[in-house]
Amino acid sequence: MRFFENMAKQVFSSEGIPILDGHVAYSPEEAMSISSEMGVPVVIKAQVLTGGRGKAGGVKFADHPGDALKVADEILGMEIKGEKVKHLLIEEKAEILNEFFISVSIDRGARKPVIMASKEGGVEIENLAKTNPEKIIKYYPNPLLEFLPYEAREIARKMGVESKLIAPIGDIIWKLYNVFEKYDADTAEINPLVLTDDGLIAADAKMVIENDSLFRHQDLVERFHYKEKAVDFVKLDGDIAVIGNGAGLTLTAMDMIKLNGGEPATFLDIGGGASDQVINQALNLVLNYEPVKVVFLNVLGGITKADDVARGVLNALKQTDREVHIVIRLTGTHEKEGQKLLEDAGIPYEVSMEKAARKAVELCNELKAQS
Ligand code: GDP
Ligand code: MN
Repeated sequence: MRFFENMAKQVFSSEGIPILDGHVAYSPEEAMSISSEMGVPVVIKAQVLTGGRGKAGGVKFADHPGDALKVADEILGMEIKGEKVKHLLIEEKAEILNEFFISVSIDRGARKPVIMASKEGGVEIENLAKTNPEKIIKYYPNPLLEFLPYEAREIARKMGVESKLIAPIGDIIWKLYNVFEKYDADTAEINPLVLTDDGLIAADAKMVIENDSLFRHQDLVERFHYKEKAVDFVKLDGDIAVIGNGAGLTLTAMDMIKLNGGEPATFLDIGGGASDQVINQALNLVLNYEPVKVVFLNVLGGITKADDVARGVLNALKQTDREVHIVIRLTGTHEKEGQKLLEDAGIPYEVSMEKAARKAVELCNELKAQS
């Protein structure tokens, strides 16, 4: 099973390999809000399970949040080797001084793991393997013995890098081999491993776990599927952003807004079991959608926990500079905890959906009357 770059990076990072600050985006608006929060320039990368994205136009840069919106829109419309791009990784752009290649995989012929490394990494690695195979160092660690740091440094030395890079590159090779072993990987690869003024960073990451050992890595498999699931976000013509957990509840909330004479600006379904991060992400999405005057967050906790919702709301409010008018209906699982979090932060909430919808429309009308 191959993992998306973003997940592979999380795993590499948890083993001490440096990565760039980054977040996943499912829509151009989200790409824009992430880049304005994180700071520009950013690199915007298609998250697909095939390589060669760079050459296919799936890796682009943006110097302004507005560009990020445009670039993200382009990439989200693409198909890379038959695979539709459904989400993006937005990362701070690294100023690259040099690109290296390091990988651990199984040499089927030799029937053992092989480490490959080159000081000429980047998108041309396959061509390099054909035209100048001697520039790719191969090393076969003994799979029955512990792979030692000095062996990794020896590989780095053979790569022909500057002497001051031998120890740090060796350290990353050693960590990558440990990831490979720990996760029963088929492949663990960093191409490019980049040199920047801040040191070495994995600018790309590939990890394939042997299918027969996936049962040992269920947590990763679950996270993978979870990541694939985006919030459902539809833009509408009105000015009241409607967010709900579950499509039915969100539709009902929209009807309630309509019944009270309001117009929904969004349909946003955060789904069941949304985490505080997803709530935060959903709120950021609607807050970055210009026509929105009032947010109506309608949550009836089931699998979704009311305290997670409250935490997500509080985080989103902390992060935005916009004046936010929000009406919250919060009941269900962990409602006491959730309501207390809101109370402590001085944010009012309702328990009845009807009442909350009416309040949202009234608030919106007041705001319109003022402007
Ligand atoms: P791949 O083509 O699917 O392997 O995608 P990569 O993530 O390896 O990106 C392709 C190329 O884009 C890299 O070899 C880099 O040259 C370039 N690139 C990726 N991330 C950055 C970055 O943060 N800064 C700069 N300057 N270039 C990047
Ligand atoms: Mn790459």
